[in-house]
Amino acid sequence: MFLRASNPDAPGSVLIFLFMKYPKNVCAVETLKGKGFLIDMDGVIYKGSKLIPGAKEFVQQLQAKNIPFMFLTNNSERSPRDLVAKLDHLGLKVSWKHFYTAAHCTADFLIRQRPQSSAFVIGEGGLLIALQESGIAFDSIKPDYVVVGEGRLFNYELVEKAMRFIEKGSRLIATNPDTWCPTDAGPRPGTGALAAYLESATGKKAYYLGKPNPFMFLMARNRLGLRTADTIMIGDTMETDIRGAVELGMQAYLVLTGSTTRELLENYPYRPTQVLESIEDLLSPEEIVPARTRIKSRVLLAA
Ligand SMILES: [Mg+2]
Repeated sequence: MFLRASNPDAPGSVLIFLFMKYPKNVCAVETLKGKGFLIDMDGVIYKGSKLIPGAKEFVQQLQAKNIPFMFLTNNSERSPRDLVAKLDHLGLKVSWKHFYTAAHCTADFLIRQRPQSSAFVIGEGGLLIALQESGIAFDSIKPDYVVVGEGRLFNYELVEKAMRFIEKGSRLIATNPDTWCPTDAGPRPGTGALAAYLESATGKKAYYLGKPNPFMFLMARNRLGLRTADTIMIGDTMETDIRGAVELGMQAYLVLTGSTTRELLENYPYRPTQVLESIEDLLSPEEIVPARTRIKSRVLLAA
């Protein structure tokens, strides 16, 4: 809201804009008409096999108010329907249409670069389905691409084949750069580590999709039908969630329920738009006000 005040001693009128915090009894999502969210999963929605407090209520509010949202994950192992089942087991019901994975990102990238392309794939179901649905052929003779994704199928025989394809000209693609992934039992090697193995063996550098590649954020935002300025990324990892959003000019909300602590923030050249203790804070109106409207007051002299 703004107030207009006239000052008889000034040559012109003075406009005083007062940007107010939203009333406490207004549901947070009411303040976000025309906006939408990209939401990381691990460390934001759940940790291990448990939902993070407030995540369920936040997603239910988005659903109830028809606010666009998309879960954005670098894990290419699971398909959207697998992810629906995973969240369902945790007590959160969402449609498969609300997921955009690094596998989708890789498929979207490849078909835009080479519409009739083929690939030799080291990865699991989620990646295979996304590539197949995009019309990319699986090729074990002369593939255009070698695609490495998340999973436990990495073995010496596959690596040897992949290396020979790359030596003969196949381009090395990694679905995401994460070198490790958290699990309930402890960390495990991620796609980035597997791609590095092939980089070392062949001397060729992989092209990395997934977060923080801005292409991932752009494609997911397009699926929501929103402009960059109207999209807010919520994530727990500075190197992927926050960096990619910042590079695209998107608002980036960091939650501290995952891989980043407040003390680590100063180590990065880029900063999140807001830092939240948890996604639960977004149920509070004070925290959900978009950053550019958090200015308390502004005085403009009219011409
Ligand atoms: Mg995460």
